[in-house]
Amino acid sequence: MSLISFFSLRIAWAVFKLERFPTARPFLQASMSDLRFDPVSGQWALIAPHREHRPVELLPVEEVRKRSVCPFCGGNESETPEALAVYDSKGAALKTSDPAGKQWLSRVVPNKYASFGSADVESNGHAAAPCHHRGPFIASSLPGPQELVIPTPRHVSSLSELNDLETHVLWQAAQDRIALMHAGGQARHAMLFMNCRSQAGASLEHVHVQLMGTPVVTDYLAGRVQRNRDCLQRENKTLVESIVAWELQENHRIVSRSENFTVLCPFASRFAYQTWIVPNQRDVSFVDLDMQQRNELGLLCRTMTGRLEQQLNNPSYNMLLQIAPFEESADDHWYVEILPRTTRSAGFELGTDLWVNPMPPELAAEHLRTS
Ligand SMILES: [Zn+2]
Repeated sequence: MSLISFFSLRIAWAVFKLERFPTARPFLQASMSDLRFDPVSGQWALIAPHREHRPVELLPVEEVRKRSVCPFCGGNESETPEALAVYDSKGAALKTSDPAGKQWLSRVVPNKYASFGSADVESNGHAAAPCHHRGPFIASSLPGPQELVIPTPRHVSSLSELNDLETHVLWQAAQDRIALMHAGGQARHAMLFMNCRSQAGASLEHVHVQLMGTPVVTDYLAGRVQRNRDCLQRENKTLVESIVAWELQENHRIVSRSENFTVLCPFASRFAYQTWIVPNQRDVSFVDLDMQQRNELGLLCRTMTGRLEQQLNNPSYNMLLQIAPFEESADDHWYVEILPRTTRSAGFELGTDLWVNPMPPELAAEHLRTS
């Protein structure tokens, strides 16, 4: 039995025997609303279950416009820039870029339509030029590396459609590329994310994960870091650790718990069926996960996106790896967040950053436990 097969069996068993939590009572009555603050993100959410039945609340599923030639499918490698890394059909990283035989399982390519400037040309490998003032404004032309991980040559659109090996290699590639981005000094923070289907911002249907290195630490990230630091000083626990401990005690919003990860719907969910996958150990960074932990994370992401698709009829969704800026990674308690995009942001949300969510996370967790 190969090493991958051995770990696949172990992980499959671990996921199968995930602790099932008893059904929680609905937390809110249908006519009630609840204004809630998320201490991690610093954002408010208005849980308003009576709005669930508004006739225009749910968005139609709109598929991404299909192209005649998919640049990410096997055989179409010339449609993308040359690969930065290639993993073969056994999950091994190849030393060369695109192989002549085109037998690959996963490719990492530069983003052809990058938002930031080129890191290689402008910074020579280092985030160099600082921000500068323009009157009352601050601006920067700092570059930021941007890459795409294509986890399969097969034309599928969601994480839930990847097989075991593709899932394992995707997360291995994510670890490798974030570690390289950190070591290269080209960015202060790495944002790994996936946009699935049009309402989540996907422009291509073929499943792919994006990695963007940002040269600045935004207020949003700095706020998360500061709130976590405050909690560590106050309670000797990370903020996320403190939240998970409370949620396990309350048992209203826990979906599952295994040896390495806890899945929950956060208290102040801004989106219906918003889901966190949190490592139980606070001191293991994402790039330091061992093979078993990494594979378990990948299979949990696949399982949870599959359950969301079952519950919500294949919604658009975003998946985000929430990690701290590199300089703050020692005290970080990272997690994966899945955001189904079944509701539309409108003037109120844009003007206040307060999101209205018609699905109480207590009910969402109950549905996800039993689906
Ligand atoms: Zn394709």
